Formats: sequence, structure tokens, C-alpha cells
Amino acid sequence: MKAQILVIGNEILNGKTLDTNSKVLAKELTKLGLDIQQIVVISDNQKTIISYLDKALTNAEFIFITGGLGPTSDDVTKQTLNDYFGYDLSMNQEVLAHIKSMFKNRYNSPINEQNIKQAMLPKQARIFINEYGTASGMWFKKNNSHCISLPGVPHEMKHLLIGQIVPTIKSEFNLPQNHIRTVNTIGLGESNIADRLTHWEKNLHPKISVAYLPDLGKVRIRVSTSDKDFQNAQLHINRAIEQLLPLIQDIYYGQDDRPIENVVAELLTEKSLTISCAESYTGGAIANQITSIPGASAYFKGGLVVYNNDMKTDLLGIPKSIIQKLGPANETIVEQMALGTQRRFETDIALATSGNAGPTQGDINVPVGTVFIGLAIMKKVETFEFKMNGPRKQVIERSLNKINELLFHHLK
Ligand code: AMP
Ligand code: MG
Repeated sequence: MKAQILVIGNEILNGKTLDTNSKVLAKELTKLGLDIQQIVVISDNQKTIISYLDKALTNAEFIFITGGLGPTSDDVTKQTLNDYFGYDLSMNQEVLAHIKSMFKNRYNSPINEQNIKQAMLPKQARIFINEYGTASGMWFKKNNSHCISLPGVPHEMKHLLIGQIVPTIKSEFNLPQNHIRTVNTIGLGESNIADRLTHWEKNLHPKISVAYLPDLGKVRIRVSTSDKDFQNAQLHINRAIEQLLPLIQDIYYGQDDRPIENVVAELLTEKSLTISCAESYTGGAIANQITSIPGASAYFKGGLVVYNNDMKTDLLGIPKSIIQKLGPANETIVEQMALGTQRRFETDIALATSGNAGPTQGDINVPVGTVFIGLAIMKKVETFEFKMNGPRKQVIERSLNKINELLFHHLK
């Protein structure tokens, strides 16, 4: 069945807010078996909404709308949809009770007219109570088309969608299921992988589709199929993956939504190893990534941001003379940094970074994008030099991926 997504919000059109809702919607609805034909972003304007709704209703069975459900005058979606479908607004007692209880128990603040207005809802629509906010989900129907309006606040939208809308569609419509498996790789570029997999792709079942999704040193290989017969779909996908894995053993680190850093974290836990880091150009990004995974205290002892040369001497014991002679960014320095950190924190593993993340040369002794990584594991220390392109943020992001790749290969 065809579906369209209508994103409503001036804040998206003027660049103040990035539209993340359509990504979540498109992902979940595709998984559900809907065929997304279009995603359109439009303004909080009654006439515009109606004109796009008219078009969407003639082209698709499902229209998903997000945004414009706030209580203030700039949000017009609810009133517009209510009028368009010829429904009547009335006080929904169940929603009103929910809003009242939310203000009393969760916010501990008095409820005002604006909040109460959120319970005025189209009587003939199906209403889905928003556990995390005051804007309800609304389901309108016209002939054979369904129009589902969801709030703009991303986490509210997501909870309503996944918790209520998706299960409802699943139980009421017999959709061909889209089966998707993602195989995650790191360390080889997209074109090289595709080159390696030419033969595999050629021999796939005709119903299987393949997509390559690159992201700063990582490439996800998405294998999907659409079938009403669940077992058939599973069979085709499983066979494709089974044939794929032996071809990518050297770059494969896991499947679906499991990031490389989580895989590394699990390996550290499993092997009871501890880790620490000393960071120059990554400025704490490594420590931040490690500690953003719950349970990191089991293996992460700590990190130092040693941006200044004197700090490399004072905190890590690297002789001043070496830094003066070689400059702060080279293999010797990251080796010394890694060893110094390993000593200070008494960890099995220590990471070190030093380099030039750009965008300008500055006073560093190496060109923009040249970075060094030191990795001390037990009694061994290795150093690496990389050339990384892109803006500063990207150089740091790429470095994190590189570090995870190195750790993964050592630990697996
Ligand atoms: P609204 O429901 O339009 O009042 O939006 C409420 C909040 O959600 C605002 O802070 C918006 O910036 C945010 N928001 C609305 N639409 C989107 C969207 N498509 N993606 C991400 N955030 C959004
Ligand atoms: Mg808005």
C-alpha cells in the first residue's frame, strides 16, 4: 500500500529545526510493509496543508502527518484536518483526564487554558493518547484513505508511532512485510566492498535487494525483501546473509542496529580488560563515546585531555626535549602518550591521539588531516598514521571509527 509523509513546520523550512521525524516514520513504515512514495515538508499554513492533503489523498492509501499540534496559534494542523474531513471538535474526557494527571503528577504545575485546549479533539477521529505529551495522535478516514496525524516533538511522535500506530496497522491490514537485515562492516570503502560482492549480488534471489550505506569508514550492507509469506522472506534473507558473511569476514563486526562501539564495549567486558585514554585533537571525544555506553565503569578507568605540550610532559611524563625535537604530532609521541596513560591509569589497554584536525594549519607540525593514534595493549604498543579528510568534526568522528576498528580487531 502506498504512503506519503507530510511534515508540517515553519521551523523546518527556515532551517531552525532539522526534520528527524520523517526519517523515523519512513524507517518504521517501510519495515511495516508500506511503500513510501513521497516525503514533503510544508509550512504551518491552512491553505498549503489542504492543497497537499488533496494531492496526497488521491495518490496514497496512508498519509502520515507530523507537526503543528501544539496549543499555540502558530500550530494549525488539528483545526485544519478537522475542518477538511468535516469532523467536529469536542472535549475528549479521557484525554482531558490524562492531561490533568500529567500536570499534577509529572510536572507538578497548574494546568492552563492552552493545555486544556489540547483535549478538544475531532469527535469522529480515532484518538491515540500521547503518554509523553498533550498532543494526541489522530486517525482520520476518507473513502479508502487513512490520514494519521502525530505530534512534532520527536520522542512523542516516535512513542505514539511505535507503541500504538504501527501495532494498529499491523493488526488491521494485511501488508506484505518488508524484511530488512543490515550487515555492518568497517575498514573498507563502499566501492571496494561492492567490487568484492559482484558475484554474490548476481546470484541473489530476484526478490532480494541490496543497498550500500557508507558512513565515515563504516559501510552497512542492507539486504531486504518484501513478501506476504513470512517464512519465504526469512528463507531468502537468511540464505543471502549466509552467503555474504564468509566474503566479508575481515571487515564484518555485527548486524542491524548494533554500533561498533557497543561491540567493542561487549568485548572489553567479556574479556575483563580495562582501558584508558589520552587525547589531544579528539578533545575528550573518545572518553565521551566510551562513557555514553551504560556499564562503562566496568572497563573504563579514565582519560586525560592533554592538548597543551607541557601537559603531555607534566601528566604523561613525555620528556620536553622529545616534543621540542619532534613536535607534538607523530608516532613517537602517541606511543609515549599511550604508554604514559597505561602506566598512570594502570589499565590493560590505553589509547592516545595527536594530530591536526584542521581546518587550518595552526602551529602543529603536520598537515591538516594528518593524525596519529597510539594503542598500548598489555605489553605491546602500536602506532598508526592516517590521513583523514573533511571538516574537523568529521576528522574526529573518523578517528573514533578507526580506533574502534583497531580495538575490535585486537579483541575479537
Ligand atoms: P509542533 O508539534 O509543530 O508544535 O512541534 C513541537 C516541537 O517539535 C518543536 O520544537 C519542533 O521544532 C519539533 N519538531 C516538529 N517537527 C519536527 C520534525 N519533523 N523533526 C524534528 N523535530 C520536529
Ligand atoms: Mg510546529
